[in-house]
Parts: sequence; structure tokens; C-alpha cells
Amino acid sequence: MTNNNILILPGDGIGPEICNEVIKLNNFLNNNSEDKISFSNALIGGIAYDKTGSPLPQETIKLAKESDAILLGAVGGYKWEELDISLRPEKGLLSIRKELDLFANLRPAIVFNELADSSALKKEIISDLDILIIRELTGGIYFGEPRGIYTKDDYREGINTLRYTDKEIIRIAKVAFNIADKRKKILCSVDKANVLESTELWREEVQKIRNSDFSNIHLEHMYVDNAAMQLISNPKKFDVILTTNMFGDILSDIAATLTGSLGMLPSASLGEQHNGKMYALYEPVHGSAPDIAGKNIANPIAMILSFAMMLEISLNRKQDADNIRKSIQNVLSENFRTSDISSSKSNIVSTSEMGDLIIKKLSDEL
Ligand code: NAD
Repeated sequence: MTNNNILILPGDGIGPEICNEVIKLNNFLNNNSEDKISFSNALIGGIAYDKTGSPLPQETIKLAKESDAILLGAVGGYKWEELDISLRPEKGLLSIRKELDLFANLRPAIVFNELADSSALKKEIISDLDILIIRELTGGIYFGEPRGIYTKDDYREGINTLRYTDKEIIRIAKVAFNIADKRKKILCSVDKANVLESTELWREEVQKIRNSDFSNIHLEHMYVDNAAMQLISNPKKFDVILTTNMFGDILSDIAATLTGSLGMLPSASLGEQHNGKMYALYEPVHGSAPDIAGKNIANPIAMILSFAMMLEISLNRKQDADNIRKSIQNVLSENFRTSDISSSKSNIVSTSEMGDLIIKKLSDEL
């Protein structure tokens, strides 16, 4: 029997609506399991800026550090687009990742065969697809210094710096090898070592770890342009992909498209283990979808799958996570869909109805 304390950060746009479905699901699990989760709530993003003047208040950081894991809805919206970049909702997200040193971003791209028709690709190319992209999240060009826009005598210059240390590469590579070891024992490391020295170092360090600690894993190195092409032409050749911050950002969105809808994709961002504790934040891949916020039509499945990842990775409750995934599959196989994944044959349901249906299927499983 366990008692865990999870921090929920609903954020902006559709964030509160989809988090609500997780809260309902958790109430159901609490009533039907010896393991209990209590949720506490805090502010992040635009709503945090409106209430406190900061997109990431100190109180949120404190609660995040005290919790067993964090669930985040989404941040951002039209209302805050004119703010200085340091105050925008998205800064809250980047800052919490940095504050908790969440350096490993796990993005599974799994195709539910019931939705294979929603993909832009042919069914036979993507059916049964199950790949995991592991993206380095706290280094690389998004954080490197110097950066900025500078005015020179007669021109302006924009600068960003792509930089990786061997330590940063080694710690993310170890996460990837350990995960590959639990899956098909194949790992593809993606870089641009032919033109970028920082990723030449990446390639060398990844290979060294393979040689010293993971000789049972089949490691392939691939240039990012080739990886982008193969993700579209032959995605099932991959199992686990390891890559840098920027390449991972782009490749994971390509992988997202393969699965048919952004509304289906969960993610986890993990830190290092310290005295048996690891900071971890789980969130859907999609944003705050301001165009559909408040209408009860958003797809809550990516959020619910993020909760399932949390149960499995942070709380060691794989069976509950598997039951949730199975329930989602069962709901989809009965043709219930939110509008983003609907087809002409679907029964279109709202956000809250989709949440209820998943709980109903879960109760049938028990
Ligand atoms: P978005 O992911 O919010 O939306 C893109 C499109 O997908 C929209 O048409 C939206 O309606 C749809 N969509 C997204 N999630 C959906 C869901 N669960 N169900 C149904 N449809 C869904 O991306 P965007 O429009 O580029 O960005 C909107 C805001 O979100 C911006 O402020 C952006 O900065 C922010 N953003 C936040 C995160 C995050 O919080 N992790 C990630 C990406 C973008």
C-alpha cells in the first residue's frame, strides 16, 4: 500500500479541462486500490503570470520539489503573446524543466490501430508502430551562450550557441541505453556529426558508453536529415531514438504526425536519481489549444496517457498503467472519438464524456 503526493499544474487553455479528466480517473483508482494518490494544485503559465506576476511562482517550485511527481496540462495563449519573453507562459515551462534539471524527455509515439486511418501515411506503414524518442532537454542550442540579437555598425546579428559537454551526453545516453535494454535492445542515436562538432562529440561519447557498458545493445548512428526521412518512409525500423534538444523537438513532432493526432501523445521529463528520488514531470505533447479551450471538446487522451506514464515510471504501478491504456483502446475500438480523431463512422463525444467512457472501461477490467 502506497500514499503518493502528486502536484497538478493545469496551466492555460485546455489544460484545466484535460486535467479534470485525470482527477476523475484518479478518484476511481483511489476507490478501487490500496495505493492512494493525493493531488495538490499550483500555478504555472499565463494564469500564474496573471495572479502573481511570474509564469513560475516560487511556491510552485517548492511544491514541485516536495511532490512525488508533477502532472502538467499546458501553458500559453493569445492573451500573453505580447509579453516580454521572460514573462511569457512558455518561460514557466522552460524554467521548471531547468529548475528541476529534467534533462531526459521521453516521447512515445504509439499508433492505436483503431486510429491508423487518421494518419497521413498508409496504414501498413504505421500500424502497430511503437517507438520512443528520447530527447536531451536542458542543454544544446536552446540554452547555449552566447545568445541574443545584436546590432552592429550596419547590420543586425542573431546568435545561438550549440554546445554539449561530455557529462550531459553521457547522462542522457545512459537513460536511453537502459530503456533500450528493457525494449528491443536497439538504439538509434541521431546527430549531425558530419558538420557540427558538438554532435561529433555526441557520437563519440554515445559509442563509448555502448562499448563499455551496453555491448548487448545494437547501436546505430544516423544523421538527422536521414532520420527525418526514414521516420516518414519506414518508421517501424526504429525502436528507441536518442537525440539532442533541437533535433528531438523536430523529430518528435514528425513522429507525432505519424500517430494521427497531437491529442494522443503523452510525454515524460525525468531528472537524475538523488537518494532514491527522481524529479519527474508528465505532460501531453500538445499545447494549450486556445482555439478550442473552454468548449469541452479537447481530447483528454494524451493527458490520461501521461498520467499512465507517471503511474508506471514514478509510482511503479505498471499494471494500473497498462489497464488505463487497454481501456483507452477499448473505447476507441467502439468508435467513440473526440472530434480531433473522428471519422465519418465515429460517435463524437466531449472531453468529459471521453473521460467517463475510459473510467467505465477501466471498471469493466477490474
Ligand atoms: P497546440 O498544440 O496548442 O494546438 C495545435 C492544434 O492542435 C490546434 O488546432 C489545437 O486545437 C489542436 N489540439 C491540440 N491539442 C489538442 C487536444 N488535446 N484535443 C484536440 N485538439 C488539440 O499548438 P499551438 O496552437 O501551436 O500553440 C498554442 C499555445 O500552446 C501557444 O501559446 C504555445 O506556445 C503553447 N504550447 C504549449 C506547450 C506546452 O504547454 N507544453 C506545447 C506547445 C505549445
